[in-house]
This record gives sequence, structure tokens and C-alpha cells, in this order.
Amino acid sequence: MEIEKDKKYEIIVFPNQDEGLKAQRILVSRGEDFKHISTLAVVVPEDRRQEACRSIIDSDALISGYYPFLYRDYEEDFFKRAEAYKADTADGTFLKTITLCYVAPCMADEKKIRLIAYLNRDITEILPYLNAVIKGASYNKRVSTLTFAKERRLINLYNMKITIAKADDIIDAWHILDEVKALVNKTHDNKSNIKPNYEEKVKVTALQIYGWLPKTNCRACGEATCLAFACRLLLGEQKISKCEPLSMDSRFTENKKIMQEMAEALGVS
Ligand code: SF4
Repeated sequence: MEIEKDKKYEIIVFPNQDEGLKAQRILVSRGEDFKHISTLAVVVPEDRRQEACRSIIDSDALISGYYPFLYRDYEEDFFKRAEAYKADTADGTFLKTITLCYVAPCMADEKKIRLIAYLNRDITEILPYLNAVIKGASYNKRVSTLTFAKERRLINLYNMKITIAKADDIIDAWHILDEVKALVNKTHDNKSNIKPNYEEKVKVTALQIYGWLPKTNCRACGEATCLAFACRLLLGEQKISKCEPLSMDSRFTENKKIMQEMAEALGVS
């Protein structure tokens, strides 16, 4: 299938190579129009996405999710980057596999995606070591989470799960997951040379939280401004649910999810 600039497309993502190969065989056998990105994802015309997903699921193959592929000039290198990406299929020494289970567009930013991936084992014991090696990470021992930013992306590491918000696209997401896997294994292998850091410093700032809020200063939460709300949320004196526009307005659904993950990881709400 040739990609045309004026047409709308969607990317369907698969959890691993086996499921991706199975799904693509199903699409071929059903005569579906699609473009292979890699064994882990395909592009389909927007108006065929539903049918393609149904064919795959009905044939007992799995998908992780889908999101719009908004073809723009700068995305001409998307397929080159996809071709250059080599999926990490090697079992790690400690963390063997990460399986991408959920992919969706960021509602707050149509150019970005968010995702959830599951780990094949519990990494709780490594989190304090990662807290020592990742600059600016926020560790919460009580709920076993580590939160850190990679440029504009927000990454939450749980005992058996990773969430990433604001990844550029699926290729960016695959690279981040591979980097996390490599970092966890390297940190585990080098444990004896790392002093674990159990410090639970909150390194997310009120201004970063403010960035996710509606910024209307409507006072529905009882605070005079959104910034005041952000400060009190960090102190554990406010709850995300008190921001009415965040809960009621669908434009902020994605922001609310991101804030909930961040607050859960930081143990503040
Ligand atoms: S309810 Fe939400 S939008 Fe309104 S002032 Fe409070 S934080 Fe800001």
C-alpha cells in the first residue's frame, strides 16, 4: 500500500513479533490493504482500521492498540526510522521481556502517544538502585514506583509495569522500552558497585503539575489559582478529583490520566 499525503491512516501496534507476524498473515489472507512498518506494527487506511482490528482479534491474534498516523512532510523519515529499528528480541539477564499492552494517542497532544507495557518479572528490588543512577528520578518506596522524565516524556516504572506519556510515536516508544530494559539489566548486573538510594524526594515541580492543569483559575477546587492547586497537590493537601474541569471536560481526559499516574507514583494523591 502506498501512503498518500492527503489520506488519513492509523497505525496498529502489536505486543510482540509473534503476534505481529500472525496479525499480518491474517491481514494478507483477508486481502486487507496495509503497509508493513515492522513485525511490530502496520499502517492501515483510517476507514479500514476497525475491520482490520476485528479480523485480527477474531482470529485470536493480539493487538496493543492503534493511533492516527497524521502524514506530514516531517514524517517522511518515519519509515526510514522504522526500517532502521531492530527490535530487541534477546532475553535480558534479569528483566527478560517487556510486552507492550496498550497504545493510544495523547488526547492533549495529537502528535504524541501514551502506552503501558508489562514486565515479565517484579523489579521492586532494583528500583532503589535505579533511583541512584537515574538523574532527577522520584522514588516512592511505599508503592514501589520510580518516576522520571526523558526530555518531554514522562516515564513511570512500577514493580511489573511501565507507563510512558508523550512518546513521539511508536518507534520512539520502542526505543524507550529497549533503553529501560537495558538500564534495568545493567543496573541489576552492577548492583554490587551501586549504593542504593532509598531517598523519596519529590522531584516533580509544581510548575510541571501546573502544565497538566486546565489553567483557567476557575476556583472550583477551592484554590485561588491553578498554580496554588498544583502546590497543594504536591504537598498532599489536595486531590486531583477536586479539579472539576479536569474530570468533566473530555479535552483534559489524557492530562488527568497522566496526573493520576504521576500522583500515584509520587504517593501524593
Ligand atoms: S478547579 Fe482546576 S482549573 Fe479550576 S482553579 Fe482549580 S486547578 Fe485550576
